[in-house]
This record gives sequence, C-alpha cells and structure tokens, in this order.
Amino acid sequence: MSDIFNNELFEAFAEASDNVYIYVCDMRTNVSRWSKASVEYFGLEGEYIEDAGAMWEQHIHPDDRDVYNEDIGGVFSGAKSRHECQYRAMNCYGEYVWLECKGSIIKDKDGNPIIFAGLMTRLDGQNKFDSLTGLLTTHELHHYDFSMKKGIALLMGIDGFRKVVSNYGYNLGDELLVTFSKKIKEFCERDWRVFRFSGDEFLIITSLVDKDEAERLYKKFCGEVDTIEMADGQRIGISVSGGAVMFPQDADSRELLINKLEHSLEYAKNHYRGELVFFSEEIAEKHRRGLTLREDLRNSIRNGFSGFELFFQPFVNPDAHMIAGCECLLRWKGEKITDSYPMEFIKVLEDYGGIREVGFWVMEQAIKQQVAWREKYGDLQVSFNVSYQQFMDEDFEDKLISYIEKYKGSPSSMIIELTESCQVDKPQELSSMFDRLRSRGFKIALDDFGTAYASLEMLKCLHVDYIKVEHSFVRELSEPGHDIDYVIIDNLLDMCRRLGYDSIVEGVENGKVADIVGEMDVTLLQGYYYSRPVCQKEFEKLLDADKIKS
Ligand code: C2E
Ligand code: MG
Ligand code: MG
Repeated sequence: MSDIFNNELFEAFAEASDNVYIYVCDMRTNVSRWSKASVEYFGLEGEYIEDAGAMWEQHIHPDDRDVYNEDIGGVFSGAKSRHECQYRAMNCYGEYVWLECKGSIIKDKDGNPIIFAGLMTRLDGQNKFDSLTGLLTTHELHHYDFSMKKGIALLMGIDGFRKVVSNYGYNLGDELLVTFSKKIKEFCERDWRVFRFSGDEFLIITSLVDKDEAERLYKKFCGEVDTIEMADGQRIGISVSGGAVMFPQDADSRELLINKLEHSLEYAKNHYRGELVFFSEEIAEKHRRGLTLREDLRNSIRNGFSGFELFFQPFVNPDAHMIAGCECLLRWKGEKITDSYPMEFIKVLEDYGGIREVGFWVMEQAIKQQVAWREKYGDLQVSFNVSYQQFMDEDFEDKLISYIEKYKGSPSSMIIELTESCQVDKPQELSSMFDRLRSRGFKIALDDFGTAYASLEMLKCLHVDYIKVEHSFVRELSEPGHDIDYVIIDNLLDMCRRLGYDSIVEGVENGKVADIVGEMDVTLLQGYYYSRPVCQKEFEKLLDADKIKS
C-alpha cells in the first residue's frame, strides 16, 4: 500500500478538528484514505476506498452535483490547479450539510498527477459555540444519541422577548440574552448541556429523570431570573415559559425530541405562560388540529371564502326595546374542522396569515348587508370587528372607502369595533386613523372596554364614538355579591356620558341584568337575552318581528 497513507502527518491533520474532514488519493491506483472523522460523520464504508469519486458523488445533493463535477473535472483535466467549491453532502443522519471542499494535485517530475489531497469543512458546524452567548449551538446535538441516554430535555423561551427588543433596543436585548445565558449555566449541573436554540430559546439536556424534580428546579430558576439587572442598573422583569420531554420514552431521536419540545413550548406560551409543560398526547393532538386548521383555512380562502359566514347579534335600544342594529360576528366551517370558534380560528389567521384577506371580506359583507337591509328595515347601525393589526394595514382605509363606493353604503351607519386594545404600540398612528375615519362619518367603538390594562390610557389619546363594556362585568350583575360590578359599570357609563361617548353593554344574559343595566345611562344593549348571534335569515325574522323582549 502506498506510503502516502501511512503517514503520521495524515493522522495528525485528521485529528486536528472535528468539523474538518481530510482525504488523500493515490491517483496511480485510485485508492484513497479518508480521516476517521469523515468515515463516521458521512457513514463511509471504511477509511480506505477504491474509486471514491463515484461513491462520493452519490453523497452529494443532486442539485449540487453539476457544480461539483465541473470543478473537479477541471482539476483532473489540468484546466484548473485547485479544486474549490461548496456543495451539500449527506451525512450519516441522512441530512444534507453544506461543505466547503478544497483540494490540489501533486505531480511527479514528469508532470504526471500522483496525489490528490484535500479537506472538507462543514460550514454549518463551524460555530460550535454561539458567538453571542457562548453556549453550544444546536448543531452539536448531532453528537447525542437520545436512544441510549435517559433524562429530561427542556426548551425555555423568554416571554415577549420581541417586545423587550422593540421597547429597549437590540443592544439591550443582546445584553439580556447574555446575562440570561450566564444564569442558566450557573444553575445547571456540570453534566447537563445547554444550547442556544434560536433567538430567545434555550435547550437544556439534563440528567434528571423525575418530573416533579424538574418542575421544582424550573420554578426555582424562574424565581432567580424574574428580574434581570443590566449593566446600567436598569432592571427588566421577564417571565419564562418552558416545554419538557422525557427521553428516551417520549423521544428517542433528535428530530422527535426537538419536534415535541417545540410543540410543548408553543402550548405553554399559549396556555400556561411562565410555566413548564411536559409533552403529552393532548399537546400532540392540539398541534395536529392546529396544522389541519391552517390548511383548512387556507383552502377556504382560496375557494372564494367558502365556509365563512357572518352571523348577526342585535343591538337593542333599552327604552324603545327595538333593534337598532347589530354586530357582525364571523363564523367558519372548514372541510375537515367544523367546530372552530372565532377565538380559535381568528388567532390562527392572525398568527399564520389570512386575517388580512378575511378581514377585508368581513368588511365588504358587512357594508353590503347594511345596504341590503336599508330599504326594508331603515338605516341599521351595523358593526364589524377589526383587530389592531388589521387597522394598521396600509390598505385598510382605501378598501373601506372602495366598498362604501361600490355598494353605495353610508359610513355613518357603520361601526368599526377595535378588538384587543391592549396591543396598541403606536397610539399616535391609530389616533390619526380614527380621526380621518370619523371625519368621513364612520363610527368607532372600543370593544371589550375594561379588560385591557391600557383601556383608560387609550381613552386619553383616541377619539371614539362608542365604548363597549366587556361582558365579564355584566354577566353576573344580578347575582348576590356582585355589587362591585354594579359600581364599576354604573361609573363607566357615567364616564362615557360625561366624555360624550355612546355606550354598548355586552353580555346581557337575562331579564334581571337587562332591567338593572336598562336603568343606567346606556345607549345600546347586546346579549343572549335578546338573541344569540344568528344567521342572516334568522336575524331578518327578528327584524320582521319588529319588537324585541321588553
Ligand atoms: P366580541 O367582538 O367582543 O364579540 C362578542 C362575543 O360575545 C361574541 O363571541 C358573542 O357571541 C359573545 N356574546 C354575545 N352575547 C353574549 C352573552 O350574553 N354572554 C356571553 N357569554 N357571550 C356573549 P364570538 O362570536 O365567539 O366572538 C368572539 C370574538 O371573536 C369577538 O369578541 C371578536 O373579538 C372576535 N371576532 C368575531 N368576529 C370577528 C371578525 O370578523 N374579525 C375580528 N378581527 N374579530 C372577530
Ligand atoms: Mg366586538
Ligand atoms: Mg366585545
């Protein structure tokens, strides 16, 4: 065997780095030697390989083979002196990884090529440690065999980290991540591994086997990091949500583990903020439903909004007991999912796209419907819901005006309800938008007033027409022990009157509540007592009946 293979230098270089793979080929015999690391990482048949070119080509991603062949062909034909290109090759885990491959040819005295030697650098593995936090990168998870070890893996995410960055800036966001990472490291046992998973998410592989112990430690850790002190003395309050998976029982491979951790963390963030949630079948089921929902909603939108429908719930005038108008409430039935409520599917539309199209559809239907009823029932006040995100869409105003023109609608009969008032981060822009819409005659309502911490703050900078009082204050008004609700509503309504706003009290579920609120200074009432939200036909029956419960 050629002595170029039995060379201590080869061994030394081969050992030098764990993400550089070296090879050398005796071109006279077409036998090559590959470093141990490359044999392991790419799952090669052995260190010595005959006709390695053909074998290696099979490892290269089909889309990158032309690039590779052209470059290496140029070297062997003598057209190029060095082989140098980047491509993806499959590793022993069946994944394609980016490599930078460099090589050159050594010739004998007569100019005949005798040796081809080179090295391949794993591009994605170059950063073993995250440059900001110094923690391991997730690439290093490749070295873990989750079927062999036993433990609990945790994925933790800082709640509302994006908000921290937008409030305090990127530099402070980075400082927070660095300090937070240090705290994790300090907290973890020596044999645990801590990875920076992505942005504000951290993965910890622990040797814990007891769920209760993991939960106890998690709580302790959250207690230690609930306030992070910055270099300039600023203190930032944070909360941390976590997902947890036991391995190998719940996940015996890296892919499965990461998958389940991500689902558990997402579930924690949505339902149990600030807590640790262990993976369960319920979470898997919720995730599957989420995927189906997304798909189903996308299909509905693509099929001309099939499955979407507006329901209508009357606004009742408390003195005349007449229907003064209605709120349009969105309903949807998908091909596969037929039992989803607005709270669920609207969130999916907002988080994964579609709310824009659906929102414009709602807007158009509401205007069209108001006009359609005009001749028979007079000018009803028709409201529709718009989230802050939708309001801030640059086309919102143009669309609204175009539908009003298209259907010859009257702006003064349309009420636009702003939902989720707590998420307003650009009150000035919203305020100018409200002023422009109101000057065109549209009416604006603040929905669910009283729930968001910013409600009162918002009143100071926004000019609106209606305040809608949240039903949680109203529903149990008639029951004993709810005097506080009475005082809150009575004062809220008084405040509305003094500020010159009209009011709508939602959630009137029975006659007693209707009587109590009816005595107060309220403009309109809404609730199951008068009618649940109903389809167009049913709503027209209510209108035909002319009067509603007195
Ligand atoms: P919201 O705008 O506050 O609508 C009132 C919700 O209270 C409706 O729930 C309605 O069915 C319910 N409700 C009415 N009367 C009573 C009552 O007496 N008692 C109780 N307990 N509840 C009552 P729904 O239809 O499930 O809608 C939930 C939320 O979804 C809405 O709250 C609104 O924020 C949102 N939403 C509905 N349609 C749309 C839409 O087209 N666009 C947007 N962005 N959000 C919408
Ligand atoms: Mg509403
Ligand atoms: Mg409401």
